Amino acid sequence: MLFLGKMEKQEQFGKEISVKFFTASIFVLNALYLFLLFFGRGKFFSVENYGLFLVLAVFAYLVQSFGRAKFWKVTVVPHFFALFPMLALFGPVPTSVVVYVSTILAYRKNYPLQSRIYGAAQYGISYYIAGVVLQMIGTGWVGLIVSMVVFKTLNSILVDMFYDYFRKTWESMKKVAEDSLMEIAFFSLTVPIVFALAQKRDFITDFLAVYTLIFPVIFTKLLSIQYRINKEMEFEKSALSRSLDKLKRVFEVSEMLKSNISVVNLMNRVASIIHNDLGWEYVLVSMITPDNKVERVASAGISPEDFERLKKNPPSFEFIKSLMKDEFKVSNSYFIPEEAQVYIPPNEMYIGEYDVTDENSWHEKDLLWIPITDRNGEMIALISPDKPKNGIRPTFDDITVLEIFANQVMLALENSSEFETLQEKALRDGQTGLYNHTEFYNKLEKMVKGKEKFCLIMMDIDDFKLVNDTYGHQTGDRVISYIANVIKSSTRQRDVSARYGGEEFAMVLRGIDKKMAKTISERIRLSVTMGDSPVKITVSIGVACCPTDAADVSEIVAAADRALYMAKMRGKNQVVVANEK
Ligand code: GH3
Ligand code: MG
Ligand code: MG
Repeated sequence: MLFLGKMEKQEQFGKEISVKFFTASIFVLNALYLFLLFFGRGKFFSVENYGLFLVLAVFAYLVQSFGRAKFWKVTVVPHFFALFPMLALFGPVPTSVVVYVSTILAYRKNYPLQSRIYGAAQYGISYYIAGVVLQMIGTGWVGLIVSMVVFKTLNSILVDMFYDYFRKTWESMKKVAEDSLMEIAFFSLTVPIVFALAQKRDFITDFLAVYTLIFPVIFTKLLSIQYRINKEMEFEKSALSRSLDKLKRVFEVSEMLKSNISVVNLMNRVASIIHNDLGWEYVLVSMITPDNKVERVASAGISPEDFERLKKNPPSFEFIKSLMKDEFKVSNSYFIPEEAQVYIPPNEMYIGEYDVTDENSWHEKDLLWIPITDRNGEMIALISPDKPKNGIRPTFDDITVLEIFANQVMLALENSSEFETLQEKALRDGQTGLYNHTEFYNKLEKMVKGKEKFCLIMMDIDDFKLVNDTYGHQTGDRVISYIANVIKSSTRQRDVSARYGGEEFAMVLRGIDKKMAKTISERIRLSVTMGDSPVKITVSIGVACCPTDAADVSEIVAAADRALYMAKMRGKNQVVVANEK
């Protein structure tokens, strides 16, 4: 820390100290200043060299408006370089008036009026008294140094100590003394110039002095820029090495995911790795089932009771999808800040304990979602880490580390035979092992989107009610299994066979034309009748092709359905192809 930021503190005055007290301070300080002006020492019109006075006044105004240099949390205001010479040459009254006016009129955004008035009066008083001291001792070395120390001391008391006293930050008060010494050393740069000015007053000295005075200001500014750049670089460097450390951990711990364990155990490991190694206090892992249900499967850092409650109240998949908007997207994840004010029912979420100190802190209702997606881009799980251990909202790099880990989890899941079975099971009909209605539509949709050429075969058992009525439902079920087997042996691996409804089946045959589809349908129809069925049955079949008959999911299904209906109308046990007479 270099210099203590007077201006910053003045800005905070308006915000933090009680309004009543602050207003009273403004009045007292301004009244005192006016009193000094009218009844104190010095005459305002003692100015002899208006040119030099004007130059210094403008310089003071410019520095007050644009000259602040920031060192981390500390600001230095170098208007001293203009005002101190003015004090030596023109006395306390004109100098304090200049600083008073330039502080009130300074060109600065977000500098509240009450802080301007407070700052103006405290500067006015500090410069005025320093000027009086200078007049008393005389503008020699001793006078200049004493006067500078007086200015700095008053300035510290009226701003820093005042501020610390009301915030009860005693530690900081000690620092003020140290920093004041630094600032006095810095301001000493001015003293020799002012000394020269005061000894020998001619145009050349005036000009050179003002010219030389600009250097400390520029020097301060440059130092401040350099300081900021260094700070930023240090920050980036430490952030980078933090991410690298975490990345190393990711690869070390990823080994632990490789053994073949159950999906829930795997996810519990995932949660505890994020909790122990990647720096998150609370972790929740959810699986997204193929029929789009959210199941909370694992947690870390959360009490078992809380986890049970969360498990019973998962959010809906639609809700999660609705928040996966571009505005919240960071890399491939989503950060939804508290400020977005998303409403989540209390029983669906977990709120831990957080320390929020500023806008960079992780907030109570911040959400971070790291999706785990399979090779087709489908979301299969969601990791939701909460409360970073360093208390700060995650950086892009922090999120990238989690994503790399999520990718390792995806690989582990893909290698898990249990996961594969679970995934597949959910897509298929339990009785026949054919794809279910939902998955049939999913696959059909993808094929239509991919502009694939295919034919759709819809099949319905003829007079199936009769089978049930005559031989009972169990026999009916066996017939359905029999048909499913016929279908399986008549289609290729790449075709899609589904149980469309109770005793209705659908097949999507890829890359074939209508003629071929008709031949295959005939073959299936014959296989059903000629095969080893529990009871004698026949089927009716409707065929429609994409893109010849329709190029849209519902249209192609409707076309095949109409063809099937025709087959029934024309006497059953036959194949009808759409748009053929
Ligand atoms: P159609 O020739 O017009 O198709 O006559 P149908 O009797 O087959 O009529 P429909 O296709 O409407 O028949 C549906 C019947 O299939 C009604 C229902 O009892 C029976 N069914 C549907 N699913 C199953 C099942 O899983 N097992 C059994 N045993 N019967 C089923
Ligand atoms: Mg039917
Ligand atoms: Mg039927």
